[in-house]
Amino acid sequence: MLEGLDPEQREVATALHGPVCVLAGAGTGKTRAITHRIAYGVRAGILQPSSVLAVTFTNRAAGEMRGRLRQLGAAGVQARTFHSAALRQLQYFWPKAVGGTLPRLVDRKVQLVADAAASCGFRLDRGELRDVTAEIEWSKVTQTVPADYAPAAALAGREAPRHPAEIAQVYAAYEDLKRARGVIDFEDVLLLTVAVLQDRQDVAEQVRAQYQHFVVDEYQDVSPLQQRLLELWLGDRDDLCVVGDASQTIYSFTGATPDHLLDFRARHPDATVIKLVRDYRSTPQVVRLANALLAQARGRAADHRLELVSQRRPGPEPVCTEYSDEPAEAEGAARRIRELIDSGVPPSEIAVLFRTNSQSETYEQALADAQIPYQLRGAERFFDRPEVRRAGVALRGAARFGGNDSLLDGAVDLPSQVRAVLSGEGWTPQPPAGSGAVRERWESLAALVNLAQDLAAVRPDATLGDFVAELDERAGAQHAPTVQGVTLASLHSAKGLEWDAVFLVGVAEGMMPITYAKTDEQIEEERRLLYVGVTRARERLYLSWALSRSPGGRPSRRPSRFLNGLRPGSPAAGGRPAAGGPGGVERGRPGSPPAGAAPPRRTRRTPARCRVCGRPLTDGGEMKLMRCEDCPSDMDEGVYERLRAWREI
Ligand code: ATP
Ligand code: MG
Repeated sequence: MLEGLDPEQREVATALHGPVCVLAGAGTGKTRAITHRIAYGVRAGILQPSSVLAVTFTNRAAGEMRGRLRQLGAAGVQARTFHSAALRQLQYFWPKAVGGTLPRLVDRKVQLVADAAASCGFRLDRGELRDVTAEIEWSKVTQTVPADYAPAAALAGREAPRHPAEIAQVYAAYEDLKRARGVIDFEDVLLLTVAVLQDRQDVAEQVRAQYQHFVVDEYQDVSPLQQRLLELWLGDRDDLCVVGDASQTIYSFTGATPDHLLDFRARHPDATVIKLVRDYRSTPQVVRLANALLAQARGRAADHRLELVSQRRPGPEPVCTEYSDEPAEAEGAARRIRELIDSGVPPSEIAVLFRTNSQSETYEQALADAQIPYQLRGAERFFDRPEVRRAGVALRGAARFGGNDSLLDGAVDLPSQVRAVLSGEGWTPQPPAGSGAVRERWESLAALVNLAQDLAAVRPDATLGDFVAELDERAGAQHAPTVQGVTLASLHSAKGLEWDAVFLVGVAEGMMPITYAKTDEQIEEERRLLYVGVTRARERLYLSWALSRSPGGRPSRRPSRFLNGLRPGSPAAGGRPAAGGPGGVERGRPGSPPAGAAPPRRTRRTPARCRVCGRPLTDGGEMKLMRCEDCPSDMDEGVYERLRAWREI
């Protein structure tokens, strides 16, 4: 059991009693060490499987841990998220503690927020609703009641989508409405569990008799509410093992804070504190870049950074590539991915990671064009997003009745026409303030304007009808997500995962850090996000950025400030110059004119493709089904359904 561990990991695995805190960088085997710790304790007969509760950050991580424990001969241990552990307990104790059965979980929460807002006399659009919902969620995980929302939000630097007093009002109405309808939400699961454990000594004692040993992974991102729950589970005991990396705190916007991790020893003076620095995941080249990135970090988390030492054989230098525009960047990545696959790297060992989900469309398209299967993690496919679908309806209507549409008066070229139609949908050329759903929605629609600019650049005579046809083709050409495919994911959803080859795209000012990161703390969180991205790579790491958004556009972007002085090959990074030339930066698209020159004659029109095999479709009948006659229907109906919905708009 202990053989596959290094001396420090072994120390973690054998420290089975009392408070234990593992502070360690990415890829040092934290998750592996705690899994072995549980298995070792169980196999040695020291821990009863049913008395251990292991808490992880996502259901996927919990599932993986259960599988791992089973392989190590320690089945029966509860490995869950905070939510699923609390929900189970709540269901069990509700009849006794409260009476009746637990109210059901609300399934359309945003609708409930909309109803609550309406009862206060506010009409919120979809983006605002999602942002207000996020504010309510944040309030609940930070245990802020409606009356305290405004001052608490100001203190936390929240960028509220509406006036704070209005949000507080909607929040209060939402709580009332929820009670009246007899439903609870996700956050209530934790809040109610906390309330029951606090109020009912008998219940608390029963839970404490059941669980005696607690293990928490990714502890740097624990919220105050989760921390409170953990304390109630423990009571006055301290058999708790936490592992985390303050440099990977990336969920501050949801109320998470690394303070619990960093203050662990202060709260538990007798804690065993173990630091792991050997990195088993990444090559020395990747680790060097990760260390250099952290060396420039500031703030509390950075004061606790640990220099990683790679245990792996040397691999290729990370590659930095500068492209003239975003489609070129995506095509460049797709080309490299194709080469990797052709050289034997399985697609499932490759990931493209980006800062915002609105960046996914360009990459979905580029991978589909290159006939590379992919899967999206934690995001809706671009053409399935509600705002994009509604924009599709509006654009189709305008294309059909364009001549009579007063909206289009004075709009002479295609991008202006698209802007005009989208402004009818509430879109503005300037991005809204704030960073939530309103902003994401704006970005999605801005991506459509961008596409219009792309199309106009290669076909100056393109009409709105051509644009709609182009959108249709793109929606149709995107492959269905497959589990064996290349992973497209936001940096936030990539936490804890690893791939042989990682493409970090859009590493430019305005994207990383994102424009709305303004305070020093927000900038530092952006840097940590890049650190999380870099440390996902085992072997090959590609960083790229584009100087302008669309082909032929004005170069308006610069590489991210986080790369200053540490591009692979530059002296600060301590590496050899990469093949790409001075400073280790390659130029993308050799042979293409420099950004700002006339746009390259690239045709972006791609035939609709079969959603199973990716071959172009020709026959009209086939188009409807979006698959060749000889391809089996191996996808769930839902995928077809959504596709049809888009095509029918
Ligand atoms: P993150 O901070 O990203 O969550 P982590 O510290 O949890 O990373 P793990 O995911 O546990 O790291 O381990 C990283 C990789 O290194 C995994 O592939 C794991 O199997 C491997 N690894 C960890 N420890 C060892 C070891 N002692 N010997 C060999 N491989 C190891
Ligand atoms: Mg981990």
